[in-house]
Amino acid sequence: MDVIQAQKLNLLIKLQKEYNTFIFIAHGLPAEKYISDRIAVMYLGKIVEITTKAQLFNRPMHPYTVSLVSAVPLPDPYIRDRERVILEGDIPSNVDIPAGCRFRTRCPYAEKKCELVEPELMELEAEHFAACHFPLNTDASTVLSGEEGMGNHEGIFANETN
Ligand code: SF4
Repeated sequence: MDVIQAQKLNLLIKLQKEYNTFIFIAHGLPAEKYISDRIAVMYLGKIVEITTKAQLFNRPMHPYTVSLVSAVPLPDPYIRDRERVILEGDIPSNVDIPAGCRFRTRCPYAEKKCELVEPELMELEAEHFAACHFPLNTDASTVLSGEEGMGNHEGIFANETN
């Protein structure tokens, strides 16, 4: 984050205090981390996860959110062991959105069900909604999706404390 960005964020924080509420739209999570109370993550025009800032950064459930969180720089130089999740492939055209889950063409956990059924945004724990058949970092995964496809996907960020 450069000086100009920091100044803009400080200005937004001042406005936030003055007006109590506002919606901030960004193309990445670093700025959101500073000024948001609740965060909605969108992919190809749809919300795929929405929750509090703490839940989003500590226990992201949607694979797209996991990749975004893994890309946020950590201020502590001694924390080097966080897994960076790099997505393969290009974002599909928004006039030719994939059937089923719109994230499936880039999702490392995609299964047959993801191609056939579009996942709904569901509350998986208090105040934490995600649209994924095989959500990560949640005990609700097995309840929602059965045994199929879970493998060892759970817990990618279970130990993160940033
Ligand atoms: S529904 Fe399937 S393809 Fe979509 S994010 Fe979840 S695991 Fe990935």
